[in-house]
Amino acid sequence: MALDPLTMLTLTVALAFAASLYQAIEWRTVREPSLLFWSAGFALISVGSTLALLRVSGLLLIGIWFANGLLVTAHWLFLLGVARFRGVRLSRGWYLIFVAWSALLLLPGEQIWSKVILLLNSFLVALPTLRASLLLRPRDKSLGAAAAQLRYVLLGHSLFYFAKMIPPLVPGTLIDLSVFGGTIIQISLVEGVMAIMLIALSMTGTVRYRRERQIERLAARDPLTGMYNRRALEARAPRLLSEASPARPGALLLIDIDNFKLVNDLHGHAAGDRLLITLGEMIRVVLPGGALAARLGGDEFVILLADASHERIVALGDVLRKRFHDNANQHFATPEPVTLSIGVSTFDQPPASLVALIEQGDVALYESKRGGRNSIRLADRSLMSQAAAGA
Ligand code: GH3
Ligand code: MG
Repeated sequence: MALDPLTMLTLTVALAFAASLYQAIEWRTVREPSLLFWSAGFALISVGSTLALLRVSGLLLIGIWFANGLLVTAHWLFLLGVARFRGVRLSRGWYLIFVAWSALLLLPGEQIWSKVILLLNSFLVALPTLRASLLLRPRDKSLGAAAAQLRYVLLGHSLFYFAKMIPPLVPGTLIDLSVFGGTIIQISLVEGVMAIMLIALSMTGTVRYRRERQIERLAARDPLTGMYNRRALEARAPRLLSEASPARPGALLLIDIDNFKLVNDLHGHAAGDRLLITLGEMIRVVLPGGALAARLGGDEFVILLADASHERIVALGDVLRKRFHDNANQHFATPEPVTLSIGVSTFDQPPASLVALIEQGDVALYESKRGGRNSIRLADRSLMSQAAAGA
């Protein structure tokens, strides 16, 4: 099959333009700066491929040196975009790419010119592309399937350009850039069309995945304390609840700050916020592995324990009550003590629902408030621990 270079180039112009537009439109919604670098990169490929068409009119400096230079710049922009996405600063050494490329102008315009240009162009495209691929290696957490795809597409593209350096080095191989002469040029044009599509699609997929994760994270968290909110607790609780058995009973601790309004009224809302954050941190510190904690709203928090004996529940509640009381007492003078009341509901088989458990916990919490606050009460059972008892 004869591949007409002019048709392939025209296709490249159109595809690269579409990819550039696609990234720019995506940027308007996602606002991830990497997309702008990538959009600019595809725009340069589109312009460069248009200029490459001028070779047939004999404009060799623009059609070869300039057009190929734009291809190098485009891949450099792809690298900048990936670095930006990964939050990595690139060393200034990468700017040497342009110095190396400009040095080509010093070469005399002879037959060797085509081979040297192809050699250097391939190297300067392969290098930043390889670096971009390496930057996409997952470090601490997964970047998603699209990022893995982008990484391998970039790796493949880079290896292709490294391989493209071989023909110019083989003596006797025909390469004439001015007329798109040489098998490698034809193959490269096909590879280019494929690469544009694959790179553009996986780039947007990569950015979208991260944005979706960010939205999921934001939707699951209480903005003040960074703890799970009620919705996130409802989504995560069923697994823990379903594991309950007489051998591994679970417990729900409903925690409400006593006299919290006094902190707001006497020390300001910001002070109240700080105290809520402090309680969130205290809960995080004492939370056993496998347990869940959330801020239900206002000054109400919840801890869901798996495998919780009465001793463990009381110990945990008492530590929290003591630490919180000490902290609040130290920072906020109030006529009534600012303490914690805790209502507990336990279950030795999967309960009907989280809501039912919270309701039971609420009854116990109310008992604690009615009994003078600063205590832990168990739903339907005896008093478990109270300030008066010296906890
Ligand atoms: P009680 O001892 O009966 O629990 O009374 P309380 O003063 O702690 O007040 P209550 O639990 O009935 O109400 C919680 C208050 O918490 C009401 C509201 O003004 C305040 N609040 C709710 N959300 C926030 C918040 O995000 N920040 C601050 N600073 N205050 C909040
Ligand atoms: Mg309260």
